[in-house]
Amino acid sequence: MANQKGGVGKTTTTVNLAAALASHGIRVLVIDLDPQGNASTALGVDHHSGVPSIYEVLLGDRPLDEVIVASTEAPELFCAPATIDLAGAEIELVSLVARENRLHRAIQSMKREVDYVLIDCPPSLGLLTVNALVAARELLIPIQCEYYALEGLGMLLRNVELVQAHLNQDLRLSTILLTMYDSRTRLADQVVHEVKEHFGDRVLGTTIPRNVRLAEAPSYGQSALTYDPTSRGSLSYLAAARELAERGFEPNGADV
Ligand code: ATP
Ligand code: MG
Repeated sequence: MANQKGGVGKTTTTVNLAAALASHGIRVLVIDLDPQGNASTALGVDHHSGVPSIYEVLLGDRPLDEVIVASTEAPELFCAPATIDLAGAEIELVSLVARENRLHRAIQSMKREVDYVLIDCPPSLGLLTVNALVAARELLIPIQCEYYALEGLGMLLRNVELVQAHLNQDLRLSTILLTMYDSRTRLADQVVHEVKEHFGDRVLGTTIPRNVRLAEAPSYGQSALTYDPTSRGSLSYLAAARELAERGFEPNGADV
């Protein structure tokens, strides 16, 4: 999940898609790659400074398996937490060998078997996001249904092309998810129309509505699916997860 624009729903999407997949017995690992640690919080996972975290994996060669913890959400939902230490990683990574490949290598040598790895990126295009793009096969971009939603997207797409050309041929922009849709505004419909025109069938049929339950859930250390399973927000993420799972993955799908 990446978009360098802040507050577009990356973390909410990561956590609730993970919870939705896990509620069907699918094994999911969430990698929190944001120093803010919001995904860790929302999954009820401790992430105070000093907790073994993705920072040690990227900077200290600690095996990913050693920092993964079970979430309180579902038996098959795991999390590699992020602590505030990760804030220094963007700079500390610069001087390291294979700095763009560190997350990819860590995932490849992971012993735990999972069906999905979901990576929650920070709101920047720095080395943390590049590590995620190098490690991933699919990119999901959450787009908020607001004015300016598409601004800055060009820069993200150029980065994706660079990563595809030089670091990860397998990367595909497979999915666009429209978030925080407010049916009362005409503007939201315009954004939906524009995004669909631009990205075609890569846009999921499911749109995530603006729903206060989605915003409340993290303060209880829960996904919305646990906090209020029948809320509109939860149902929409369940539908989005179903769509994703049914689509599967086409290794040779369309390019950016
Ligand atoms: P950042 O760039 O800071 O990491 P983000 O892209 O991960 O942000 P979120 O943290 O998921 O975005 O969402 C931003 C804020 O909007 C949060 O307070 C979240 O609870 C709220 N939010 C996200 N999606 C919805 C929604 N569909 N309805 C209502 N509130 C939402
Ligand atoms: Mg976030």
